[in-house]
Amino acid sequence: MYYRFRASRFYGGSATADAVGCNLRCLYCWSWRFNSRLEGVFYSPKEVASKLVAIAEDKGYKVVRISGGEPTIAFTHLTQVLEHLQKYLRNKKSLFILETNGILIGYRRDYAELLSMFSNIAVRISIKGCSEEEFEKITGADKVFFSFQLQALKNLLDYNIKVWPVVTVSFCNTRSLASLLERLARIDENLVAGLEYEYFKAYPASVKRLCKAGLLPWFSILVKERKVLNSNEFRELCRRYSQT
Ligand code: SF4
Repeated sequence: MYYRFRASRFYGGSATADAVGCNLRCLYCWSWRFNSRLEGVFYSPKEVASKLVAIAEDKGYKVVRISGGEPTIAFTHLTQVLEHLQKYLRNKKSLFILETNGILIGYRRDYAELLSMFSNIAVRISIKGCSEEEFEKITGADKVFFSFQLQALKNLLDYNIKVWPVVTVSFCNTRSLASLLERLARIDENLVAGLEYEYFKAYPASVKRLCKAGLLPWFSILVKERKVLNSNEFRELCRRYSQT
């Protein structure tokens, strides 16, 4: 199921399919509404591939991707989309980027093996929090699943798939971040160099969820106002939101 197909500016321009549904419930998720209500339309793998190719051709993009929800929860569908895209990706020297939280690839090593059958593919794993405890607060899932995300990096590297991690540092502290870097380095030190740092973009709906849960980022950006907030300013924002 997907809720939109779009041209996006990420990766220097990418044709993007936004999937619906996820195995986590991150409080800051920008696809929350679609994932929790399962709002979207079912498309066949062939239709998804055709839509992505049409956008990429129209815009001259070299990257196609699936984002939005968690694409690996429909793994067979995902591999079928990749099958339909293979010829195009090779001919156009383009890249498919899988954006995932990595949980299932960490749990199922065979998923990494199956992905390795395809060429022109890269995987971006969005790690939730820098520690088990932060993971649990952000996602609502049991902390044991945190390490599956790290295992996913290892599984993919073992199958020679290009992969890099990203973390939203707004919810980490220096200690947990240092520990994460150490854990990544133990898998492969290139993961540390390649780690992408994100920060929390404060959209109203996710701000309300975070405030309600008492999870306050030490650094965030109010997107519309283009303003940076520290944790005290975020607390003040929570107070304002609670009065509306
Ligand atoms: S893993 Fe991604 S899609 Fe799933 S809830 Fe978290 S932010 Fe949203």
